[in-house]
Amino acid sequence: MPEIPKYLREGYIAPEELFKIIPKPSEERLRARPVAVPECPQEIPCAPCREICPTNAISMPTPNDLPVVDYDKCIGCSLCVQICPGLAFFMVHYVGDKARITMPHELLPLPERGEEVVLLNRVGEKVGRGRVVTVVPRERTKGDTPIITVEVPIELAWDVRAVRVVRE
Ligand code: SF4
Ligand code: SF4
Repeated sequence: MPEIPKYLREGYIAPEELFKIIPKPSEERLRARPVAVPECPQEIPCAPCREICPTNAISMPTPNDLPVVDYDKCIGCSLCVQICPGLAFFMVHYVGDKARITMPHELLPLPERGEEVVLLNRVGEKVGRGRVVTVVPRERTKGDTPIITVEVPIELAWDVRAVRVVRE
């Protein structure tokens, strides 16, 4: 009987496991401009990310295949992050000693631009604090998920995948 992948047993995918499935962008590419990285390891029939990409950077021969991004073709438009129903696409950009992570944000309240927020890892544990750089609110009444970009310490670039707004 084949071994069940760790991400299925634990309910989230760690970066080490992810980058055995898809390539990791090079540091040079991560510094050049934002790059989209799919964290979508299951072969499910789904392809809106491939359909919306304006540069055909996402390859997926059939909707059951895994999305793989040609990082050189990605222009960092974030459309894949906005459309992914599985909240599985993120964008990463290294800027100096920080990383800017673009992610979907379904929780309330929506943070404001410039606000300091609590950074959460893939299991929802607090790993530090960061600052929100941009907010794209979108129309919740249509079921659209807002997306935000958060600046985090660069060593947390592959850990932070959500934030919590804490207002006293
Ligand atoms: S960010 Fe834009 S260009 Fe890059 S993979 Fe996503 S949709 Fe394509
Ligand atoms: S849209 Fe999201 S869930 Fe669907 S294949 Fe693309 S990355 Fe995976």
